[in-house]
Amino acid sequence: MKEIDITKAIYEEYGRKLLGHLENDVVVVGTGPAGLTVGYYLAKSGMKTAILEKRLSIGGGIWGGAAGWNVITVEDKGILDEIGVAAQKKGDLYVADAVELATALGYKAKKAGAEIFTLIEVEDIILQEDRVKGVVVNSTSIRASGLLVDPFCIAGKYVIDATGHQAELVNMIRRKKPDFHPGQLQEGFMDVERAETGVVEKAGEIFHGLYVAGMSVCSVFNPPRMGPIFGGMLKSGKKVAELIRDRI
Ligand SMILES: Cc1cc2nc3c(=O)[nH]c(=O)nc-3n(C[C@H](O)[C@H](O)[C@H](O)COP(=O)(O)OP(=O)(O)OC[C@H]3O[C@@H](n4cnc5c(N)ncnc54)[C@H](O)[C@@H]3O)c2cc1C
Repeated sequence: MKEIDITKAIYEEYGRKLLGHLENDVVVVGTGPAGLTVGYYLAKSGMKTAILEKRLSIGGGIWGGAAGWNVITVEDKGILDEIGVAAQKKGDLYVADAVELATALGYKAKKAGAEIFTLIEVEDIILQEDRVKGVVVNSTSIRASGLLVDPFCIAGKYVIDATGHQAELVNMIRRKKPDFHPGQLQEGFMDVERAETGVVEKAGEIFHGLYVAGMSVCSVFNPPRMGPIFGGMLKSGKKVAELIRDRI
């Protein structure tokens, strides 16, 4: 084996993955609980799915649980059961291990057929004929360096904003289309009883071709914050996958 054989193997395999996902049924932006869940269910139902993450690792806010304690809570453990994450009942809640959830969701999404790309940051949207048709991306390290290096593009029939609190893709449209008024871009006061229903109800298409799932729903539609309980993130991801599956 020569040193350059390693480089060649990595470069060729990455090229294969990327070329295979320049055109997709769905592009999911963000690998928090919402993005990985939507990616898992989409891929499972046979849709060509690319999941993009600007950080080196997947999982978004899952790792932090509450205050950095890596335990998560849900009100309903159906999705955890499906992906094989152990959950114990505590009063009205179930608790599960954050490491187990993040790794299981990533593994299940990948094994279902989704391709996950890390260190890829979405910097803009492809919006033509009043419809979102894909994303403009660059290497996170190039973005961080501040260098003006041209990006590349990834197309999708549908794009999902699962970027969490920042609702980054929704904001990209807002900045360029002053007539687009999705909401407050800020979640409401904490109310754990009403919050999960709110985030799941409002998850869906926010602009032609663009869907929101997870905390970006809260940021856009202003339902109450739910506190560190992750059921709404998972369920809103599942709901968006079902909505898109029914359309394709
Ligand atoms: C102030 C605060 C309040 C919170 N409130 C709640 C709450 O009310 N309820 C609750 O359940 N949880 C809350 N959390 C915890 C946690 O943020 C969420 O539960 C959960 O992680 C959100 O899931 P998500 O999938 O929507 O987004 P996240 O877990 O935040 O994942 C988003 C992912 O998208 C990636 N990303 C962002 N922008 C881009 C881009 N341009 N290109 C590529 N990737 C991108 C990020 O790197 C990240 O990995 C809170 C956290 C904080 C800090």
